[in-house]
Amino acid sequence: MTALSSLDGDTIAAIATAPGRGGVGIVRLSGPAALAIGEQLCGRSLQPRHAHFCQFSDTDGSVLDSGIGLYFPAPNSFTGECVVELQGHGGPVILDLIVRACCNLGARLARAGEFSERAFLNDKLDLAQAEAIADLINSTTEQAALSATRSLQGAFSREVDELAEAVTRLRVYVEAAIDFPEEEIDFLADGKVAEQVTALQQRLQQVLNQARQGSLLREGMKLVIAGRPNAGKSSLLNALAGQDSAIVTPIEGTTRDVLREHIQIDGMPLHIVDTAGLRESADVVEQEGIRRAWEEMATADRILLVVDGSSPDADIASAGLWPEKNERLGAELPVTVIHNKADRSGRKPTVIQQGNDTVIELSALTGAGMDLLRDHLKQCMGYSDSTGSQYSARRRHLEALEEAAEFLAAGQEQLAAAGAGELLAEDLRHCHNALGTITGTVSSDELLGEIFSSFCIGK
Ligand code: GDP
Repeated sequence: MTALSSLDGDTIAAIATAPGRGGVGIVRLSGPAALAIGEQLCGRSLQPRHAHFCQFSDTDGSVLDSGIGLYFPAPNSFTGECVVELQGHGGPVILDLIVRACCNLGARLARAGEFSERAFLNDKLDLAQAEAIADLINSTTEQAALSATRSLQGAFSREVDELAEAVTRLRVYVEAAIDFPEEEIDFLADGKVAEQVTALQQRLQQVLNQARQGSLLREGMKLVIAGRPNAGKSSLLNALAGQDSAIVTPIEGTTRDVLREHIQIDGMPLHIVDTAGLRESADVVEQEGIRRAWEEMATADRILLVVDGSSPDADIASAGLWPEKNERLGAELPVTVIHNKADRSGRKPTVIQQGNDTVIELSALTGAGMDLLRDHLKQCMGYSDSTGSQYSARRRHLEALEEAAEFLAAGQEQLAAAGAGELLAEDLRHCHNALGTITGTVSSDELLGEIFSSFCIGK
């Protein structure tokens, strides 16, 4: 048996199709020996980008399967290397045999995500695009799939690259101003630089907002239902989820722990958490439930504060929670106040804007006004089920954008306080690096390992 694996670099092989049975199953080879191994297996020469019907034979000449052999010469392939695809019958045993035959001829089994990693290393994709492949495959809703496709096509990367280029242009300008102080115009003092930093900050904020929506779409919005006992929290969870997942009883303190539901509203993923009623309690189990309720609220994307709208002290109940919430969690966490039991209070289902807060009158029991709540949640998430203008983004991307924004703000401050061009230039450099980690122009082996190892084998 001759190993055909060549001298420079490994040739990798893996089943590219999903595990299980199917009409067709694909084994993919990538690397310098892919063509030699593929031709040996197919028992014929393979023309670039031609479909050849052939028999796949093992090294001892026994026929394993028949199917299509395809050859994509480097660099015009997914990985940028020579790639051969063997399309056989989609059974797990036969595909394993074909992979084993490839390995007998000198290929080795691909690691998780190694095809995508090679595509990244060969500049076929940037890092955000490679991540979008995993997101596309893992997406659970239509919207998430479409936004991952947009990221894969480069929509997000283009925005980030444009930002990075603008940061570089500004840095060059600032450094020139520092290097040539004898120039007549003081570039740093004439306000133009400060203006440009502000414009950059605004652009960065726009991208960050859009990426936040993309990340919510990928990961789902975490909605925490909170409020006094008996306000109707569990009933609201059931009405949103469309099934009796929480126990609804008229006895106060029924939900002592947290309950979780994953639902979709027109394709928008939501993780709903129902919490123990917030009240003073001597019961240690209930106290623990209440402690967990606050813990859940601290990591919510939005809190639904449920109030019994039919109770005469409804407004006091919600108002009473305000200072407590702000004290414990800070004022930034967005809250929607639900005035429940509209069937009893006799109030019409409506949405009212009160300053920064939204108040919705509804009845979890009859379902009246639930559509208003659903629309409100979609609006909060910037979710539209008609157009696919969004791109997918990960928490890692958000953190990098936030870091970039912090450096810009710090640079802006240095400039305003001390006209410190050198410090601004340094902050711009850090800002540029933070943006570079998104697309992978700045990356470490550790980061690459972390990203690609979460892929499955064959991707
Ligand atoms: P929780 O303790 O906040 O989870 O409240 P539950 O969902 O267990 O509800 C407490 C009581 O209020 C139950 O008897 C529910 O049937 C009742 N309830 C909940 N929502 C409504 C509503 O919209 N209208 C009316 N009339 N009763 C409701």
